[in-house]
Amino acid sequence: MTSTDARTDPDCLFCRIVAGELPADVVATSERSIAFRDIDPQAPVHVLVVPRDHHGDIAQLAAADPELLSDVVALADEVAGDQADGQFRLIFNSGPRAGQSVFHVHGHVIAGAELGWTPA
Ligand code: AMP
Repeated sequence: MTSTDARTDPDCLFCRIVAGELPADVVATSERSIAFRDIDPQAPVHVLVVPRDHHGDIAQLAAADPELLSDVVALADEVAGDQADGQFRLIFNSGPRAGQSVFHVHGHVIAGAELGWTPA
């Protein structure tokens, strides 16, 4: 992708949710990011925070657009305040061996319970 390309991938599941082509249980939005409930929740609050632009993983996002990463973190904090007590774990799986299955960067907001060491 060059800087003039639209940061979207028609074959990407989360780009299609961002575009409104696929349904999602959206709980919060910002101008540049959206947050929707994980389809297979692992905690009382399990929300995915997704930049609207397509970036593969957190390192790629941080390198290309650190302000957008900051926006994702701010929206995660907002979700945790709205949906739980404001305390949360924010998990970015990066790479298949780390559990990443959707290659559009997303943070898992995990909250609403006492969290042990092992990520949910
Ligand atoms: P990861 O394995 O870190 O890439 O996380 C991908 C997450 O996306 C998983 O927790 C899935 O349960 C979740 N997921 C997959 N499809 C959907 C969907 N259509 N709506 C909401 N969450 C989804």
